[in-house]
This record gives sequence, structure tokens and C-alpha cells, in this order.
Amino acid sequence: MIRWSLSAELFSAILLALLLLSYRGKDQVLTRRRKMYLVCLWLSMGSILLNVLCVLTIDRAHLLPLWLNLLLNSLYFFSVVILSTVMAAYLFELILEHVYDGHCLRRAHRLLAFLGLLYGAVVLWNLRSGVLFYFDEGHVYHRGPLNGLGYLFLTVELAALVLCYLRNRPSVSRDMVQVMRTLPPLVVLLMVFQQLFPEILLNGAIVTLADLVLYISFQSRRVELDSLTSVGNRISFQTELALRLDGGQRFQVILAALQQFADVNRRFGHQMGDAFLYEVARELERRFPQGRVYRFSNVEFALLLPFPEDGGEARLRLLQERFAQPWTLGSAQAVLNVRLAELLHDGQAWTSGQVLEYLEYAMNLARREGAPLVRFRQEMARALQRQKDLVALMRQSLRERRFRVWYQPVWESAAGAFTSAEALLRLSTPAGEPISPAEFVPLAEENGLIDELSWLVLEEVCRLLSSGAAPGLESVSINLSMQQFLDPGLIPRLRGGLEAHRLAPHRLKIEITERVVAQDAVRTAAVMEELSRLGIRFYLDDFGTGWANLSCALDLPFQCIKLDHSLLAAYPDSPQSRKLVHGLLSLFHDMGVQVVSEGVETQAQADALCQRGVDWLQGYHLARPMPEEELCAFLARHAAPGRAAQL
Ligand code: C2E
Ligand code: MG
Ligand code: MG
Repeated sequence: MIRWSLSAELFSAILLALLLLSYRGKDQVLTRRRKMYLVCLWLSMGSILLNVLCVLTIDRAHLLPLWLNLLLNSLYFFSVVILSTVMAAYLFELILEHVYDGHCLRRAHRLLAFLGLLYGAVVLWNLRSGVLFYFDEGHVYHRGPLNGLGYLFLTVELAALVLCYLRNRPSVSRDMVQVMRTLPPLVVLLMVFQQLFPEILLNGAIVTLADLVLYISFQSRRVELDSLTSVGNRISFQTELALRLDGGQRFQVILAALQQFADVNRRFGHQMGDAFLYEVARELERRFPQGRVYRFSNVEFALLLPFPEDGGEARLRLLQERFAQPWTLGSAQAVLNVRLAELLHDGQAWTSGQVLEYLEYAMNLARREGAPLVRFRQEMARALQRQKDLVALMRQSLRERRFRVWYQPVWESAAGAFTSAEALLRLSTPAGEPISPAEFVPLAEENGLIDELSWLVLEEVCRLLSSGAAPGLESVSINLSMQQFLDPGLIPRLRGGLEAHRLAPHRLKIEITERVVAQDAVRTAAVMEELSRLGIRFYLDDFGTGWANLSCALDLPFQCIKLDHSLLAAYPDSPQSRKLVHGLLSLFHDMGVQVVSEGVETQAQADALCQRGVDWLQGYHLARPMPEEELCAFLARHAAPGRAAQL
């Protein structure tokens, strides 16, 4: 009779009990993965206990009826089949966790089912044939000729796992790579050891070892779940993206940003706001069971879905339709507006960083344009690249002092001379291609570079005005964007600049657009008032570009209104255009506000405007923007006696 050593099994049982205990103590969300792991732990424990029971009863088999001995040992063999099948299924799932193509998993399931059933059938057949084990007439246990069949099955499962792992290697998570590097060699080693020393029972040790490796690799790691909504957090979204991309998988990502969520918090309180967020996460999971939901940022969710063969519109429509409906939680009901950005990955060579950048770009575009949805297109990648190149160029140009301030002379009708100029920033690529400030100024704002640019212009203008190098130049206007204008450092900076160069404040004029006023009318009014007190004058720029709000413009202390050049497009030929421009001129004059006409491109325009009493003229017909030295030469030429009254 064989004398078995149970020490390895008992030691394994203790280890498993510890694992189960540590698991119970953790206050963690039971995800599908955790549930499967827990099932493996309980099955392992059950199988070991059955094994111990069998060994103990085998020693006293003559005390029990034969059927009970057979039943107990058969149950143990069944438990081994179930355990190895469930465990292998779990490992396949972990390997293929980040693979959309379901082929591999289906094939693995078929293989496991086949092996499990086959082995189960052998266990049943064993009752008659005794190929696995049998009891002789004296109730003594004997190993059958196929007793080691379980190890053969285990080897096949292991081989299939390794194959599956190697085929999908780029999409296998780092933790699982670690498991696959350690687990198969260890199991093989133990199996060989078992063959060499059959009296030391190691089945339990093998499964416990597998449980332990999985525990160390997965279960003890930091939870990458969002604690409020229980969906994956931003980090797990990035990891998932990287794995899908590395595996060359096709997918759809949708970013859903809740709008004005602060209103929900204000109306219902933060606790209720949290409950709404939780509900949104649940709803997204319910609606898209084929995908995964992540909390991308506070009020933004990301959905990662398999590539849609129908183009993806249906899912977007589904989302928009749901968000068009109100959300109800108890007595609270809220409409949660959503803005969507979407991207389809169809095999492009993108990194996860690029995908995130593209999604954020699409979302920013949607925000800027007030669109409910922006789908990322390849052209946007080029636009984004240009933006990035431009930001890099701006940084370099700032370092190398390559930004230039040019000046466009402005004609004063009353003086019959160019007495003012507008300062305009200039930037060119190293190849000399000019870039419009209308393009780079907003980018400079978004990238925190506007501050330096503002002071660069101010410094240059003050220096020019105080140098006296530009004959007849009484004032210069500078453009300030919204961010520049609302910068708390603006007033001390301006005051400091004027004082340092000993300039009279009226020589500096500030141009702002209606957009600045619209952004924050109260603060704009306060800043204007303070600067007006200093003696600085204001121009309302680009009047007529669609942003103008007449009453607002007239409420604020603007000395001058600049009619945008778009108003002159059909002027003076078109009667409508004439009516509009002349009407505006009279209106502003009646209000005591001066008018600058921008974009004067023909003599006919200049004549008609002068006849109507326009105060200032600016445009290519009179003078183009030019560098400082040219401006000085230009003004010197025009200030020459006999030229003063000519236009
Ligand atoms: P803006 O303030 O309305 O400046 C006038 C723009 O019209 C300038 O374009 C000028 O070159 C152009 N222009 C002048 N005369 C004519 C004309 O006869 N026909 C046409 N079609 N255009 C004419 P630029 O220099 O490209 O500047 C575009 C915008 O960039 C400016 O519009 C201003 O809003 C902004 N900008 C320029 N420099 C600065 C700056 O230093 N700071 C800030 N914040 N913005 C600036
Ligand atoms: Mg301007
Ligand atoms: Mg303008």
C-alpha cells in the first residue's frame, strides 16, 4: 500500500485559508475578475480538503463501504477537472482581457469544455474500468494505468495558454505577462517533481501556487477604479488604450463631457451631484455592455467600444437621445447636457498619448464652436500638429527674440497727416513664411505665452514713442486679447511702462474687441475705468464682425470705434453698404464717439469716407503694416512740407 505524505496539501490549505481571509477583510468592489478569482480560491480549497479526506479514508478503507470509497475518490477527481477548467478559463480571460477579437476566447472555451468533458467521462468510466484508480477485494487503493491522465490534460491546457499568450503578447497586460513568465515553468517543475516522488502529494500545492502567483500579480495591486462611480479611472483608460493599440485592434472611443454640471451641484447639493454621476456611469454600462466605461475626469466619461461596422453613428445617436431625456433620482430631476467627442481607430499607427490628444482636441473644438458632437478626422491631426509646431516656434522665437512689432500708419483726417499707428505683432517660420497673429495669439493664450508677448509689444511701443524717431507720431494703439486685458498685472504694468519711458498716457491707446467685453462686462468696465483715470484711451476694435453689441459698446468709455474692414467690402459702390457705413458714422458721431475705418483698400473708399467725415483712416491703400525703421522713414517722407494735406 502507498504511504502518502499530506504535509504539502495541509500547508497549501493553510495558505489558501490565509488568502481567503485577507480577501474577505478587504473593502473592495467585487468586479467580475475578483469574483472569478474568489471562485478559484474556494474551488482550490474544496479540492484540497477532498484530497485530504480521501487519503485519510483510504488508510481506513476497510471500515467504509466500497461505494463510499469510490464516491469520495471520484468526487476528488471531478473536483480536479472542474478546478483546472475554471482556472484555465480564468487565465484565458486575463490573457485576452484587452483583445476585442473574440475568436481566441471562443476557441479556448471550446478546448476547455472538450477536455473537461473528456476527463469527466474518464472519471465515470473509471467506476467500471479502474483506469484511474480502483479498490481491490481487501478495500486497498490502487492507481490505475491512466492515473496520471490529469497531468496530461493540465499540460495540454498549459500549452494552449502559452500559445494564446504568445499570439496576443502585445495586448497582454503587464501583470499578466509576469504571471505567464512565472506560472507555467513552476507548474511544470512541480509536475516533474510529482512524477519523481509520487508519495508526496502536490496537487493542492500546484493550484495554491497558481492562486498565489495571481494574487501577488493582480490582487494586491492598487485599485485602478474610480472610487465614486466604480468604473475604471483615467489611468486604467490609458493602460487599456495602450494595450488595444499595441495589439493593433480597431475600436471606437467616445468622450462624453457633462456640461454646466456645477448647476446640478448648486441645485441639488454635492451629494446628489455625485449620485447623478454614479447613475450616468451605470447607465453607460447598461447601454454599452460590449464596451468599457471610464471616468476620464471629474465630469467626463470615456467609452471604449469595439469598432463599429455601421460607422458608429448609431451609438452616438443612442447617447444623444439618452442625454436629451431627464435623469431622475428620487424626487430630483435634472437634464444633463452632454458634449461628445469621438474617434475611430482603424489601424492607424497612433500611440495612446496621440489618441488622448486627438480626443481632447476634438472636445476643445466642440467647446469652441458650441457643437454637441465632434468626430475626429484625419485633417484635425494635421491642424493639431500645426498648432503644436506653432507653439514650439513661439517658444523658440520668444527665447531668440524673433517676434517683431510692426506698425500700420493711421491717417487722421482733421490733421491731414498720419499721426497714429497700430502696433501689430509679427512672427515668421524659419523659412520666412509669415504667420497671422489672428492664428498665433489665441494659441499663445492657451499655452501661457501671451503674458510675455503682451509685455514685449508694450515695451517696444513705449520705447518707440519715447525715442522721438518717428516724426509726427502722436500715439500708437496696441491690441489686447481677452486674457491680456483681464490680467490683474495689466494696470501696474502699463503704469510702469509709461512712467519708465516718461510718456503721456494719451499717447498709448488700447484696442479691445467686443469679445473681451462680452466675456466679463463688469471686470472690463472696472479695468477701463481705472485706465481711463490714468489717461489711457480705448478703441473698440472689429466693430461689425458679428460680435458687436451696440448698447454695450456705447455704455463703456470708448474714445473711438474701429469699423471692421468687412463693412467696406462693397463700399462705396453698393447703396446698402453706403447706407450702413454712413448710418454708423452719423450714429457714432452723434454719440460723441470717433470712428476709425479699417481696411481701406481703394481711393474711392478713402474719398467717400473722408467726405462723410470719418475721423481716422487705416488700410493697405494708405499704408501697409511695416517694421519700425520703415515706419520712421515713411513718416519722415509724409511729414515733409507740402505733403501734409495729401491722402
Ligand atoms: P486687428 O486689430 O483688426 O488688426 C488689423 C488687421 O487688419 C491686421 O492684420 C492688418 O494687417 C489688417 N489690415 C490692415 N489694413 C488692411 C486692409 O486694407 N485690408 C485687409 N484685408 N486687411 C488689412 P494682422 O496684422 O494679421 O492682425 C490680425 C489680428 O491679430 C489683429 O486684428 C489683432 O486682433 C490681432 N493682433 C495683432 N497683433 C496683436 C497683438 O500684439 N496682441 C493681440 N492681442 N492681438 C494682436
Ligand atoms: Mg486692432
Ligand atoms: Mg480690427
